[in-house]
Amino acid sequence: MNMDSMLQVRNLKKYFPIKGSLFGAGPSYVHALENVDLDLYKGETLGVVGESGSGKSTLGRTIIQLEQPTAGKVLFEGKDVSALKGEELKRFRTNIQMVFQDPYASLNPRLSVGYAIAEPMIAHKRFASKAETKEATEELMKKVGLQPSMASQYPHNFSGGQRQRIGIARALSLNPKVLICDEAVSALDVSVQSQILNLFNALKRELGLTYIFIAHDLSVVRYISDRILVLYLGTVMEIAPKSRLFEKHYHPYTESLISASPEPSTAKRKGRIILSGEIPSPINPPKGCKFHTRCFKCMERCKVEEPGLREIETGHFVRCHLYDEKGRN
Ligand code: SF4
Repeated sequence: MNMDSMLQVRNLKKYFPIKGSLFGAGPSYVHALENVDLDLYKGETLGVVGESGSGKSTLGRTIIQLEQPTAGKVLFEGKDVSALKGEELKRFRTNIQMVFQDPYASLNPRLSVGYAIAEPMIAHKRFASKAETKEATEELMKKVGLQPSMASQYPHNFSGGQRQRIGIARALSLNPKVLICDEAVSALDVSVQSQILNLFNALKRELGLTYIFIAHDLSVVRYISDRILVLYLGTVMEIAPKSRLFEKHYHPYTESLISASPEPSTAKRKGRIILSGEIPSPINPPKGCKFHTRCFKCMERCKVEEPGLREIETGHFVRCHLYDEKGRN
């Protein structure tokens, strides 16, 4: 990994309006993302972890401009992509592609998998002839571990792992620089998960790809990531290199996540931390620190004052009043 930031997210907010507020009250919004800042470095895998409802998928979709940001910017290779439209937006999207949890849902059951993989290349007129498109499709199938002879078969003939390989081949068909993988192995059996994770690693080496890897499962994120971003109620709570996070995490939410995972770590050795209650509604998020309603270290100040994201060691950022002064209290 080199330290060139190829993608920057700055103060990114995404609110979804809710239609038909009860009793004629003013408009309500789902606060999916709140002032998210992140850098993605060329060649790295940035893991994004958080519970369901933390805004992980919205973050991926807003970066790729499938959702328009409510406020803030996404810069790719120095260019603000939030304002792109038409052809420019189409060109930008060739650089960043998404791999989804359920490739079956995005595959047309009436089209052969060869066509499903070739479709983006045809739509973007990547090759002048059918023969070149066919050759590129077969190459992609080989790269992801599928037999080119299967190109004429239909999605229902494939297993879950094979369908995910089809989804990955399709995502690679426009030669992207970045893949955003959104729960890309969550629906698979554990043994198949590891095959697909190994495939992602091999493709990264072979093609020089950069990944944002979104998952609720910390062990999956730990396996594949170079750095990890912890998201809670649309807010970045901690970002650190993976090796550091598992030995020296600071945020109480990260501590609870790691203590509950089956992975060896400092928090794990201290015993499991069970958080009280559910993640609050993003329609009416708590004031002050977003985590204060469940935090076992909550102070009076946390209920009224939102902490900022502070760099407490090089490359290690934490949002918590316990660390308002640089270094650990
Ligand atoms: Fe807990 Fe307060 Fe830190 Fe929030 S700011 S995580 S409530 S100690």
